[in-house]
Amino acid sequence: MRIIRYRYHDHVDWGVLVGDVVHALVVSPYEDAAPGPPLYPLDSVALLAPCQPTKIVAVGRNYAAHAAELGNVVPEEPIIFLKPPSAIIGPEQAIVWPAASARVDYEGELAAVIGRRCQASAPPEAMHAILGYTCGNDVTARDLQQRGGPWSRAKGYDTFCPLGPWIETDLDPADLRIVTRVAGQVRQDARTSLMVYSVGELISFISHIMTLEPGDVVLTGTPAGVGPLVVDATVEIEIEGLGLLRNPVVRAAARPSAS
Ligand code: ZN
Repeated sequence: MRIIRYRYHDHVDWGVLVGDVVHALVVSPYEDAAPGPPLYPLDSVALLAPCQPTKIVAVGRNYAAHAAELGNVVPEEPIIFLKPPSAIIGPEQAIVWPAASARVDYEGELAAVIGRRCQASAPPEAMHAILGYTCGNDVTARDLQQRGGPWSRAKGYDTFCPLGPWIETDLDPADLRIVTRVAGQVRQDARTSLMVYSVGELISFISHIMTLEPGDVVLTGTPAGVGPLVVDATVEIEIEGLGLLRNPVVRAAARPSAS
């Protein structure tokens, strides 16, 4: 099942996508969701980010080839960090390149969306807590990150967490192709089978630190091939079985100078 959040004129709601038709969502996505009556054709609504998490937990260096390309070793335990929910944007919304950075990178990632509260869970139980998966882009101001210190600034700017286009609930995350394109050119092309820590291992590890709530997002790390975005071009993250998340990149508007 494909769970969406959408806007239709002034109306924002959950829905279920069946083919190209938006259906109502019976109950909430976190309690036995099922498609209700058909409402609108897909092309008449704007898709929004498909969840509203209390937190986004991201994982660093979870693909060996990516760790190596940035001169890092594979960690002995998962490296985790938080991105703020205020960074979330949906499909087709613009990533804003901040004036403080000279290099803003894409990071295409499989995003797991939690469906049930998950606390101190073993990996099999952690897998059962997942509602489904969506495409994520862990946008990063690489130059600010490489100055050192916590990554909250480099990865926390508004618009630095595109998610979408929907939550696919029937998907095995073990071996999916993940492709990132900038201006139509392939920059990342890998498989989730290359993860150092599996989705179940990651969520189990995180759940022993912080309780994961329904709607929370775990970004599972990016494969090799990271590089800069391009202003006025689009970036696409496409994951097998999941669809495609596309966002344009714009430069931040110059602030009026203080007078
Ligand atoms: Zn990342």
